[in-house]
Amino acid sequence: MNKLTSYTLKEIHKAYREKLLTPTSFVDLCLQRAKQKRELNAFITLTEDVAEDQSVESEKRFYIDKQTKPLDGITIAMKDNFCTKNIRTTCASKMLKNFVPAYDATVYSKLVSSGACLIGKSNLDEFAMGAGTIDSIFGPTRNPWSDGEDWRIAGGSSGGSAVAVSTGACVAAIGSDTGGSTRNPAALCGIVGLKPTYGLVSRYGLIPLVNSMDVPGILTRTIEDAANILNCVAGPDELDSTTMKQDFSPISINDDFDMSKIKIGIPNEYHCQGMDQEVIDTWRQVADLLENEKASVKTVSLPNTSVSIAVYSILNQCEVASNMARYDGLEYGLRTDADYSTEELYATTRCEGFNNVVRSRIFTGNYFLLTRNYEKYFVKALKLRRMISNDFNNVFYGTDSVHCLLTPTTLSDAPLYKDFSSKHNRDQCAFQDYCTQPANMAGIPAVSIPIRLSKNKLPLSLQLMGPCLSEELLLNVARRIENIVNFPSLDKAE
Ligand code: GLN
Repeated sequence: MNKLTSYTLKEIHKAYREKLLTPTSFVDLCLQRAKQKRELNAFITLTEDVAEDQSVESEKRFYIDKQTKPLDGITIAMKDNFCTKNIRTTCASKMLKNFVPAYDATVYSKLVSSGACLIGKSNLDEFAMGAGTIDSIFGPTRNPWSDGEDWRIAGGSSGGSAVAVSTGACVAAIGSDTGGSTRNPAALCGIVGLKPTYGLVSRYGLIPLVNSMDVPGILTRTIEDAANILNCVAGPDELDSTTMKQDFSPISINDDFDMSKIKIGIPNEYHCQGMDQEVIDTWRQVADLLENEKASVKTVSLPNTSVSIAVYSILNQCEVASNMARYDGLEYGLRTDADYSTEELYATTRCEGFNNVVRSRIFTGNYFLLTRNYEKYFVKALKLRRMISNDFNNVFYGTDSVHCLLTPTTLSDAPLYKDFSSKHNRDQCAFQDYCTQPANMAGIPAVSIPIRLSKNKLPLSLQLMGPCLSEELLLNVARRIENIVNFPSLDKAE
C-alpha cells in the first residue's frame, strides 16, 4: 500500500468515516511498514501493544460513541528522548538503556488525549547531540531515499522520527530541536519539519539538552498536518514554567491566503561557504516563484549570523555540562560496580555510560564555566546571542521590515554515511547546522519544506523563519510553496 507514504490526516479520517479503513487496521498497516523497513533502523522500540490499545479506543469513538477526537487513529512516533510512562526511554545512550520513566512528557499526553496511537520510540544521536543520527548505541539510521550499499545519513538528531514519517510507518512524529534537529532530518528525508516558537510547546518530559533552546519539533508529510498536530500540542503547561502564559488560538491553513501582502527577506549572510550550488539555485528559484505569487521579496541583512555557530557551541556545551551532571550512577540510569569510592563510581559510570561526543561536550562545557573563563566565554556568548536575536528583531520589526525569511535548511543533500561518520566530517556537524541554529538562539519559529530532488535524486529543502508566534503566517506561506513545488512522496519518486 504505497499510499502509506502520502496519506494525510484528513484523508485518513475520510477513509475512516467511509469505512474504507479503520483505526485498528491502519495501525496494523503502519506497524507492518515499520517492520518491513526495519533495516533503516528508525525505531529503538516498537510499541505494538500500546498502539493497538489506543487504536481500539479510537475505533470505539469513531463507530460507537460517534464522538471523535482530532487525532483519532493517527499514528505517531516519539523521539526516544521524550519520557513515556512505562515505556523505555533511552536517549540512545548506554546511560539510560534500561530507563523506564514513571511519567509522560506533556506533548505525548496531549497527543494521546487527542486520540493519537503510538507506534514506537524513534532513534536519535545520543542525548540529541549530533546532526546525523549516526551516534546512537542502537546503530545509525539510514536515509530511505538512498539505502543501497553506499547509503546516506538520515540527518539528525531526530533522524528516526523523520524516517518513520517519510516511509509511512506513521503520519506524524515528534522530534526535538535545539539547533536544527527537527528541520535537518526533515530536510534530508523530504518531509516537513516545524520548530515552533520557544515556549509555545511544553518541554516537560523532554530530557534536556540545552534548556534555553530546546523545543519539541513536529515532523509530518504536509504543512496542513503539521498545523493540525501543533494545534493539539501547543499552549501553556503548569509543569513547564517556560511555556507561554496566554492560551493558544488554533491556527488555520487557508489555500486562498493573500500573498500580495507578504514581504519576504532573503538574508545575505546565509550564503555561506560550502553551500552547494544546487541549494543556492533552488533557493533563488523559490524566491522567484514567490514573486510570481505577488509576494514582495528583497535582500536583508543579519550581520551577526557568522558568529552563530561559535556562540551556539559555547552555550550548548555549558548547558550540557550542567544538565548531564544528574547522571552520576546513584539515582537512576547506569551504575557500574566500582566500589572503591563514590568518586570512582561517578567516574566509571560516566565514562562507560556516555559516548565520546557527550563526554567531550561535558568536558569543554565545564572548562568554559571555570571561574577564570566564565566572563570570557559564557558571558560573552550570551551577549552575542542577544545580538543575533536583535538582528532578527531588526528585520521583523525595524523600518522596512519583512514578515518572514527564506533560507536553505541544510548546505547540501544527504551526505554519504562513510563521509559523515569519518572524524573530519563529524567535526562538520555544527557546520551543517549553519542555517538552522540562529532560530534556536532567538527562540523564533522555523519550518523546513521539501522542494525538489537533487541530481543525486535526494530531497533538497528550504526554510522559512518568522517572528515569535508567527506560526500561522509561516505555515500559510509554506503551504503556498508546497502547493507550487509539488514535492513527490517517497514511493512516487521511486
Ligand atoms: N546538531 C546540533 C547539536 O549537536 C543540534 C542538535 C539538536 O538540535 N538537538 O548540538
